[in-house]
Amino acid sequence: MKVLKFGGSSVGSPEAIQQVIEIIRRSGEQGRCAVVMSAMLGTTDDLIAAGRAAEAGDDGYLEILGRIGERHLASIRDLFGNGGANAVAEFVESTIKELCDLCDGVRLTRELTPKTLDRILSFGEIVSTKIVSARLTEAGINNEWKDSRQLIRTNSNHGLASVDLADTNRRIAEYFDGSDAAIHILPGFVASDAEGHTTTLGRGGSDYTAAIVAAAADAEVLEIWTDVNGMMSADPELVRNVRQISHITYREAMELSHFGAKVIYPPTIQPVMAKGIPVLIKNTFAPDDNGTLIESEPAAEKDLIRGISSIDEIAVLNLEGSGMVGIPGFSKRLFGALSQARINVILITQSSSEHSICVAVEEASSDRAKRVVDQEFEYEIVAGRIEPLKVETGFSILALVGERMKEHTGVSGKMFTTLGQNGINIHAIAQGSSERNISAIISSRDVRKAVNTLHEEFFSDGSKQVNIYIAGVGTVGGRLIGQLGSQHDHVLDDMRLNLRVVGVANSKRYAYDEDGLEIAGYRTALEAAEPNSVEAFTDAIIANNLRNSVFVDVTASADVVEMYPKLLERSVSVIACNKVAASSAYDNYRRLKGLAREYGTNFFFETNVGAGLPVIHTLGDLLRSGDRVRRIEAVLSGTLNFVFNNYDGSRPFADVVRQAQDEGYTEPDPRLDLSGTDVARKILILAREAGHAIEMDDIDNVGFLPDACLSGSVGDFYEAMAAEEAHFRRLLDGAVSNGLKLKYIASFDNGRASVGLQSIGPDHNFANLAGKDNAVLFYTDRYPEQPLVIKGAGAGADVTAAGVFADIIRAASAN
Ligand code: ADP
Ligand code: ASP
Ligand code: MG
Repeated sequence: MKVLKFGGSSVGSPEAIQQVIEIIRRSGEQGRCAVVMSAMLGTTDDLIAAGRAAEAGDDGYLEILGRIGERHLASIRDLFGNGGANAVAEFVESTIKELCDLCDGVRLTRELTPKTLDRILSFGEIVSTKIVSARLTEAGINNEWKDSRQLIRTNSNHGLASVDLADTNRRIAEYFDGSDAAIHILPGFVASDAEGHTTTLGRGGSDYTAAIVAAAADAEVLEIWTDVNGMMSADPELVRNVRQISHITYREAMELSHFGAKVIYPPTIQPVMAKGIPVLIKNTFAPDDNGTLIESEPAAEKDLIRGISSIDEIAVLNLEGSGMVGIPGFSKRLFGALSQARINVILITQSSSEHSICVAVEEASSDRAKRVVDQEFEYEIVAGRIEPLKVETGFSILALVGERMKEHTGVSGKMFTTLGQNGINIHAIAQGSSERNISAIISSRDVRKAVNTLHEEFFSDGSKQVNIYIAGVGTVGGRLIGQLGSQHDHVLDDMRLNLRVVGVANSKRYAYDEDGLEIAGYRTALEAAEPNSVEAFTDAIIANNLRNSVFVDVTASADVVEMYPKLLERSVSVIACNKVAASSAYDNYRRLKGLAREYGTNFFFETNVGAGLPVIHTLGDLLRSGDRVRRIEAVLSGTLNFVFNNYDGSRPFADVVRQAQDEGYTEPDPRLDLSGTDVARKILILAREAGHAIEMDDIDNVGFLPDACLSGSVGDFYEAMAAEEAHFRRLLDGAVSNGLKLKYIASFDNGRASVGLQSIGPDHNFANLAGKDNAVLFYTDRYPEQPLVIKGAGAGADVTAAGVFADIIRAASAN
């Protein structure tokens, strides 16, 4: 015999029921079968809501029951056509009436006992099975409906009754022996106690009914028909690219379901495992799919981890106190108290110091747990030997399951590193000694991110999703987004990084799309967005809590820099093209770097010096490999190099500056370049990166701009420069007449940094530095005479965007 179980969605609509009829017909042709069914989708929830409304004295239950009745009657009309099923329709109507009476009683007494609730709930599966049975009969498929309450005997723990297996097995065997029907239809979930009162087996309990029937009848297979193609590597509602598990052992399935994979109700596995009956999970809506086979032999698969699951609404109970040390019996009393109060313990950890025991239970039972445990230990609490039970809520349990874990080292290391890099705090850990499962308690708000991160780590083809947020969509930001779009496939193929721009912001708005913004359409999305602040943008980044998040600052705004600490504290990498942070007060620079280290994330700002040239990382590599910087000489302003390379007296100085700005080399305010401030910031950053605690004020900056050029607007600045043309001409002539060139040079030597305009001869290292190029010379212990030279374009939107791109890749690969 085969046992088939159909879940709520499989009988949730007339179309689904037709599908079920077809599956039963085919199974029936192959041999005898027992079919266990759930209530129509949502019915159990609605029945609970009706009961609760009545208990609260609210006559809203009438409307809920009316809706339930109408839903069933509509399905009957649809399935049977006109008048084809008067008997079932009448049964539904009379049952609804009975439910109304029951709820009326509840409303009057204002008491909904678990016993009454079970009676109310039994309606769901009784009616759904009656409908299917009648429809089968109408289709000419002989079948026998049997009330499971006469077969499954339980204790009187209403709502979550325990099955008396001996009695139940006997009843089921007797029933099958005494019936010659080929197809048996049985309601799931419902049972009865010794007095014949209706009981239920817990939410999702129809799976368990089916397993009990299968075990009692020594079925050849138990088929669980549901709405997914089988057991998946993670909950498909949390993770998009889940993998279907083709084979899984009983024990693995048990662990996964215990920790939340609701595709199977946890107690289901035990009875079939004891008899070695294979369980096949199949999709009612894709019956040809192979599904998942649960059996005893570990399947020969290469995956170390079979699946990841999670349960929400968990409370953590902590029993602590020095009085516990070395005294046996404390745990026994704790668990005894919980068990007596029928509180189910989901996970246990005890530190080896025996100072504390930590257990996880459902949030709904936490108040009760506090009461009974404090009562149990009243004496010790009063005596100060242990603390009153500490209860914390808002947690979830995350579990990684796989038989093969025990043969391999490093699984838990990988699990916790991955979670840590994403800023997910682990509250408690448990690893069963079977080593089939590692579980961790984390905050519920991190569950989606945690499950996705682990799934990617253990199941993806090696690719990693990187979620990028970009503040600033000016020239560099725009180019960067273009490059991210055009390089996406190449980076995915080559580096297994799936780079997605999920958020963009300008100073007024931000746009966000968890699935990734369309590269071509981000500006439109931004225009259509509500006005918002950069603070709101960062708050959204934190609330979205996506894995491997990277925040890119391509603004020049000090307000954006204010956001860095809270991003770093949530393990979001910060990539700054903006120089404000790294050149701010030394303490702030140190603090940001410290936060990145502390939270296992990255704070990179390669483009702060030399645009896309690899200056800062090269310096870092020198230092990490043990070298020491003695001196730095550098041309660090693309703008100034361009300006002095192009200013030959043939046109005014102001025109050359204008050209540099038009070609995108200058800062938004070109005075930052011309005053030497930008160069000073860069040498400051290099000196700091070389290990020196210096401030902006420590840098000698001998300006070449007349004071008149330094006040007013950018427009005033151009006018003032034009008016001072004679001054610039004198500077030029002074150099040229001596056969020299003007270069704006930064240097750092012996702890002192300076920036200023110099006249250099044709043999100078920087004499042939053309266009907007930058050059940095590092004189170090390893490069004492001939410096390490980094040279190339030091400004421009494309190279700067490429430098930011490289930082993003570096941050994404570092994690
Ligand atoms: P039924 O009504 O058929 O009993 P359930 O809703 O109880 O179905 O269980 C099926 C659902 O379980 C799926 O639709 C899916 O959303 C959820 N689920 C959670 N974890 C998993 C998993 N690891 N594999 C498959 N489904 C899962
Ligand atoms: N109808 C019950 C529930 O929704 C049992 C089941 O569907 O398995 O919990
Ligand atoms: Mg279910």
